[in-house]
Amino acid sequence: MSAIELPGFTHVYSGKVRDLYTPMGQNGEPRSDQVLLVASDRISAYDYILSTPIPDKGKVLTQLSLWWFEQLESLIPNHIVSTDVPEAVAGRAVLVERLDMVPVECVARAYLTGGGLSEYEATGTVSGLQLPPGLVDASRFEEVLFTPSTKAPFGEHDQPMPYADVVAEVGADRAAQLRDLTVRILERGNEIAAPRGILIADTKVEFGIRPDGTVVLADEVLTPDSSRFWRAADWEPGRRQASYDKQFVRDWLTSAASGWSRESGQEPPALPDEVVEQTRAKYVEAYETLTGRTFS
Ligand code: ATP
Ligand code: MG
Repeated sequence: MSAIELPGFTHVYSGKVRDLYTPMGQNGEPRSDQVLLVASDRISAYDYILSTPIPDKGKVLTQLSLWWFEQLESLIPNHIVSTDVPEAVAGRAVLVERLDMVPVECVARAYLTGGGLSEYEATGTVSGLQLPPGLVDASRFEEVLFTPSTKAPFGEHDQPMPYADVVAEVGADRAAQLRDLTVRILERGNEIAAPRGILIADTKVEFGIRPDGTVVLADEVLTPDSSRFWRAADWEPGRRQASYDKQFVRDWLTSAASGWSRESGQEPPALPDEVVEQTRAKYVEAYETLTGRTFS
C-alpha cells in the first residue's frame, strides 16, 4: 500500500495515513509553494499501520475535512488551494499551500477520557492543569482544555507537552494564539455537531505558518482519525464511551479472536472482512451524519 506514481508529481513523504507529493511547475521544476496531500485507506491502531486497508476511508476523511474547513472559515484560514487533482486520486487528494508546520500537536479536550483520564486518576491534573476532584470517564469539562503534545517520531507515542514548552518553541504570543484557536475550533465543532447528535470529545489539529506569518489550519480537521466522536444520545459519564471510528478495529485486535496482544511487540494480524466492513460503515456514517450529505 505504498504511494502510487502520479505523472506531474514527485512523491516526497508518506505519513501513517497520507502521501505527500510536490507538483511540477510549467518547466518541470518542483514547485516550492504547494503540496498534493493524498489520503490513503491505511488505518493505524496502537501505533501500527495495519496491513488491511479500509475501503473509501481516504475519501471520507478528505471530504469531511473539506466540509469542516468551510464551516470554520470565519474562524481561521485553511491550506486548501484546489480539489482539482489527478483522476487516480480523485476525491481523496487536495492541493494545499506548503506551510511551515508548527512542531506541536495542538490538542483540545471537551471531555475527560483516554490519556487525559489516566493522568487525572494518577495526579488530579490533565496536561499539568489542575482539575476539580470527582471527575469520571467522559465527564464534561467546565471549559475546553488545551493539552498540546509533541509530534513523536514514527512508531512512538506522542508525549504531553507542557504549555511552557510550547512557549519556548514558538514564543508567548504565538503559543497563546495557537491555544485559543485550538480551543475555538473544538468549541465551534461541538456547536455544529451537537444538533446532529454527535459529541466531539477531543481533537488534534495542526497549524502551519505562511511566509507572511499568518497562522493557517492545515492537515485534516475534525475527522474520526483526529478526533473522538461519541453518539450524544449514548453519552453517560462514568463508563467508557463507544467511540465512532476505530472501535471495531481496536476491540477486535484486543479480543481473543485476533490472537494478538499489544505487549507482544509483533505486527497486528490482518483484519477480518466483517471488521473492515463495520469500520468502513462507521466512517461513512460519521461523514453523512455531520454533513447531511450522502457519501457516494
Ligand atoms: P507524521 O507526519 O508524523 O508521520 P502522520 O502519520 O499523522 O504524522 P499523515 O497525516 O499521514 O502524518 O501525513 C500528513 C503529513 O503532512 C503530516 O506530517 C503533516 O504535518 C503534513 N502536512 C499537512 N498539511 C501540510 C501543509 N499544508 N504543508 C506542509 N505539510 C503539511
Ligand atoms: Mg496525520
